[in-house]
Amino acid sequence: MADFETELERDLEAIRGQGLFRELRRMDSAQGPVIDAGGRRLRNFSSNDYLGLAGDPRLQEAAMRALQKFGAGSGASRLICGSLAPHHELEEAIAAFKNTAAALSFSSGYAAALGTICALAGKDDVVVLDKLVHASVVDAARLSGATLRVFRHNDLEDLETILQWARDKGAPSQRVLVVTESVFSMDGDLAPLAEIVELKDRYGAWLMVDEAHATGLYGPGRRGLADEAGVSGHVEVQMGTLGKALGAAGGYICGSRRLIDLLVNRARSFIFSTAPVPASAAAATAGIGIVASPEGAQLAATLWSRLAQFKTVAGPGISKEHRSAIVPWVVGGESDAVNLSATLRERGFYIPAIRYPTVARGRARLRITFTASHSTDDVCALAAALSAHSTSQSVS
Ligand SMILES: *Cc1c(COP(=O)(O)O)cnc(C)c1O
Repeated sequence: MADFETELERDLEAIRGQGLFRELRRMDSAQGPVIDAGGRRLRNFSSNDYLGLAGDPRLQEAAMRALQKFGAGSGASRLICGSLAPHHELEEAIAAFKNTAAALSFSSGYAAALGTICALAGKDDVVVLDKLVHASVVDAARLSGATLRVFRHNDLEDLETILQWARDKGAPSQRVLVVTESVFSMDGDLAPLAEIVELKDRYGAWLMVDEAHATGLYGPGRRGLADEAGVSGHVEVQMGTLGKALGAAGGYICGSRRLIDLLVNRARSFIFSTAPVPASAAAATAGIGIVASPEGAQLAATLWSRLAQFKTVAGPGISKEHRSAIVPWVVGGESDAVNLSATLRERGFYIPAIRYPTVARGRARLRITFTASHSTDDVCALAAALSAHSTSQSVS
């Protein structure tokens, strides 16, 4: 057998050789429109902190109060003795915000996907995924042991073909679970949720929608895209994260009381894991409070006006119809994307390159994200820097 270190070096060389080597970059400041990295101040266009809540003093104070009352750690899994008041308050806040009967929080969105899909589908079932769903959903579907089928991105005809196939081949007891994202994390485009709901209802399938990049941003109550489309009551499983627009950390699932009771009994990533720290649950509850308030509406409006401004100044690199805070600036080659990211860093902008395996090979890009805390000056400066250094290939 080869020496451990030699073998790992060979793997790393292969990664480097493909232009895919990744490194952690240390940040010496809180999340915000400007960050300190490597001794420099950079305009930050990479965070998912869409409403600027991660650094908000009210979330910090909520976290500190919970820290003082409940301590630093949770002590155990929720089912042992870690089910602290802040977790229950958070779940009541999520259910009220999302207008569902119940909710369950997880240590991360990744853990929520893993625990939930494996609790709902097993080896006799079929899980049907959009081609571009997040890695957490792909990993969950694989781990579940269900038959995995993938439909072309946002392609209703392809989805219907698979649903028809599942109906023709399956035993009557077979479950079919369709999983999609509402706003896709690397392209920033939206799923046709009303049409997907119509299809899954017609074929008797279940639907899980990952609203990681939509929670806090869409619809009159900022509940997400399913609510904006008027179909949230027809989505069996609504998933999201507390770590993006809500400003804290953790994942959630919401839906019926039975769904949540089943997850408490079956979701292994929930059962066999220490409860998140009380400070993080309390910060998320405070974040939801702000998002659900009139101030949340204002923050979202500010974010959308920054996007609108970028569209008017950025030229053909972005479609006029684009309506998410995630703007893919597709470069193509992996090394080209890394070089453009480095050039922009020299000019004072922090926008990492996104490469395979996060996106397909040859579709490397800068993933630009706008937040409510960017100024109009930030947006102007970014557009100028981009037009000086690159041409984006439109993603669609
Ligand atoms: C970020 C993300 C997740 C994972 O959520 P975490 O709370 O960061 O673990 C899941 N799905 C999508 C689409 C995401 O973008």
